[in-house]
Amino acid sequence: MEHLASDNIVEGDIILITSTSATFYKVAQLETTRATTIHVNPTYPKLINTINRLKALPPLESNATIHQILRGNKSNYKCTARIKDIEAHRTWYSVQCSKCLSKLHPQGEKPVEFVCLHHNDIEAKYSYCVNATLIDDIATTKVVFFNDAMANMLQISCKKMVTEGGNTDPQVLPQEMIAHIGQLKTFEIVVQSNRTAVVTNATNMDNIQPIAFQTEVDPLTSILPVTPDPKKLPLKRQHPTTTGTRDNDKGDKRLKTSH
Ligand SMILES: [Zn+2]
Repeated sequence: MEHLASDNIVEGDIILITSTSATFYKVAQLETTRATTIHVNPTYPKLINTINRLKALPPLESNATIHQILRGNKSNYKCTARIKDIEAHRTWYSVQCSKCLSKLHPQGEKPVEFVCLHHNDIEAKYSYCVNATLIDDIATTKVVFFNDAMANMLQISCKKMVTEGGNTDPQVLPQEMIAHIGQLKTFEIVVQSNRTAVVTNATNMDNIQPIAFQTEVDPLTSILPVTPDPKKLPLKRQHPTTTGTRDNDKGDKRLKTSH
């Protein structure tokens, strides 16, 4: 179709394409025919309402690659990528005292209770804080999901995940979280002044299957070997299917276990 378009088309132009045929190759697509024409910024009276509506739309934000985020100097990005790995050993949630904000530790098993050493009659405040690695076709980057972004992505609050879901061990990832590893998503990312990349929103890109990761780990963000944590072993045994997408990753055996 490029041969029909002039070089003068710029971002934000409205393009009218006529006489195409609809075909299907993996996804629905339009193919040009001999009768296809392209009109840039058309002015047809019949279309004026549609054209005005399109002109009023905000300009499309172009997606950044992880490479651009790592090297860029902006603070806000949108990026299409997958969660490659979640660092379970850094814990995926914390609980604070509603009065002194000190970190609460679980007591007992069923039901688990969070108590403050200094206060009685408190409300336990549950928050996700998840350290993960994102991967696209070229690079990887470490990111942090704070509470709201993770609750949105999982569609379940941290409190429910812990108390109702029975996921009380902060170093054992919930099945619901593991299920998102490998899915193609659009991530909204804010890079803080200390270069921490914080995910503020993650939206699923539908109908795209997880793929096996073949990409080499970016040396800048590669993970140092760590002593295997015995707490991770039950996770690997319990959920063999969810880590299946990474079984093809021969480049880095360490990726098969969460650190
Ligand atoms: Zn307290």
